[in-house]
Amino acid sequence: MLFQAPRGCKDILPDDQKYYQFIERTLDKQAEINGYEKIETPLFEYESLYKKGTGEGSEIVQKEMYEVKRLIKDENEDKAEKERLILRPEYTPGVIRAFIEHGMKNLPQPVQLYYFGPVFRYNRPQKGRLRQFYQFGFEQIGAADPATDARMISLMHSLAKALRLEEVVILINSIGCSTCRPNLKDYLKDFFSKKKAALCEDCKSRLEQNPFRILDCKNETCQKIGKTTPPIIDHLCEACKDHFKQVLEFLDESEIPYDLEPTLVRGLDYYARTVFEMVMKSDNKRQNSLAGGGRYDDLIQIYGERPTPAIGVAFGVERIIELLKERHIKLEEAEKPQIFIAQLGEKAKKKAIAILEILQHENIIARAALSKNTLKSQLRVADQLEVPITVIIGQREVMDGTAIIRDMREGVQEIVEQEEILDRLKRKLELKK
Ligand code: AMP
Repeated sequence: MLFQAPRGCKDILPDDQKYYQFIERTLDKQAEINGYEKIETPLFEYESLYKKGTGEGSEIVQKEMYEVKRLIKDENEDKAEKERLILRPEYTPGVIRAFIEHGMKNLPQPVQLYYFGPVFRYNRPQKGRLRQFYQFGFEQIGAADPATDARMISLMHSLAKALRLEEVVILINSIGCSTCRPNLKDYLKDFFSKKKAALCEDCKSRLEQNPFRILDCKNETCQKIGKTTPPIIDHLCEACKDHFKQVLEFLDESEIPYDLEPTLVRGLDYYARTVFEMVMKSDNKRQNSLAGGGRYDDLIQIYGERPTPAIGVAFGVERIIELLKERHIKLEEAEKPQIFIAQLGEKAKKKAIAILEILQHENIIARAALSKNTLKSQLRVADQLEVPITVIIGQREVMDGTAIIRDMREGVQEIVEQEEILDRLKRKLELKK
């Protein structure tokens, strides 16, 4: 039996919880300010949802999905259960499935949803790349206007600021719509065919089906060739060019910093028109994006519904946490225990429990070490917890109906009647604020 977390997965220990909580609190607040409502979808979904949505040609679907299987099969299995299930590798298809399933098209449009939770991708674990990692993101469904794209990018930018990541840059491009995409595809095919010999084996096969993905390849030579591709936007249809121009104008107007990245594409098939990523200015290679997203106007139609424009962005939580740590950004600490209750003997233990209950009702954080029997070992725990005050109840105090209240920093102590403990503790804690 291996006593270690599976490769590429990690425990979120108490010390790290404050980072997750800080991010989630910041997210909830920004979402509220901007009128987004929270959604949570199942950790696993039918594979077909992702094959159709994220795309059979995407790296995620081809190589990175985990299957979910029951260990025991029986004859009474649901028919639906015969469909293959996968752990969600990203949220968008699940959120859109919920949008369709719950008839959200009948709600006032656009529908604005946000999420926070784990996703799963099989890849080679390394710094900034895990197999189970947390994502949060926003989806806005039902608005096509270029101002929507700019608003989504602006939201991404203000969230980074609220997360104290000020030095970010937004990379942006447009990859066209279903009208101009076939031309663009032919154009890229032509361009890369001339360089075929130098491409990696994967890209050679991408050449026919999806030359866009060559621009997203991790192989260094392919990346170098990719950078020499003439700008994609030069080959867009007039409507897409106009849409993109307006997005940029809105961004200029709001003074949101961005860099045009003429060969930026995104690894998922459903994107159309505006695509963007957010990286740290210091990330010269622009490899470790903090967030990525774009418009996906065709996805809902791919699922057989009335065409509905949509746009979204997803952030990687662990990458943000790494940056917060690297930059020694101080976060509010979780509240520490203020009082320790030490006891000696069975009767004292009962009294200690009663005091713990009273303090709990008063929302005062208190701790005890009820399975330790010597005073010395209990006071050692109190020291480790760095509590300012310890209450000590021994056999004598039980008989007298008193308790000792010790000020741990000053080393002084006093004896109080048991009925007065709460008042005395409250007063002492007040003085320590
Ligand atoms: P994607 O869904 O691939 O567009 O990714 C959105 C964000 O999730 C990225 O910008 C990263 O911050 C984060 N991310 C993607 N893949 C991983 C991974 N394997 N491990 C940790 N974070 C990731």
